[in-house]
Amino acid sequence: MSGAKPLHPGLFTWPNANPSLIGSRCLDCGEHAFPSQGSCRACSGQNTQNAELGNTGTLWTWTIQSFMPKTPYHTDETPETFRPYGVGYVELPCGLKVESRLRENTPDALRIGMPMALEIISVRKDEQGDDLVTFQFCAAEEAH
Ligand SMILES: [Zn+2]
Repeated sequence: MSGAKPLHPGLFTWPNANPSLIGSRCLDCGEHAFPSQGSCRACSGQNTQNAELGNTGTLWTWTIQSFMPKTPYHTDETPETFRPYGVGYVELPCGLKVESRLRENTPDALRIGMPMALEIISVRKDEQGDDLVTFQFCAAEEAH
């Protein structure tokens, strides 16, 4: 994906052949956060630093988004082209649960506890014609 840039900078390592989510870790108590936070929600300390949270997890819970979300909506889909998609919480190895769009969009493809993998998807093009990309998770066996 040359000419591709993140829709929201700082959420994942990019460009990178094997992208990882970027969060933060509290150096005082070890609490993780995503996205990266300058202060710790657990101990209120300011002693945090960015941490790569990896690109795998397990599906903690999920649902199917079957209607267009309210604006701001970040793709160029219209009510006519909209397709349902999965939404879920993926539990990362550090214990953090991250809300994410899921590639799978039917209930029979999703199971609580299934292994998931991060992938980077193009959501639309910007004014310069560059792809704007974001992350989602998919079933680990489907990852490429
Ligand atoms: Zn802390």
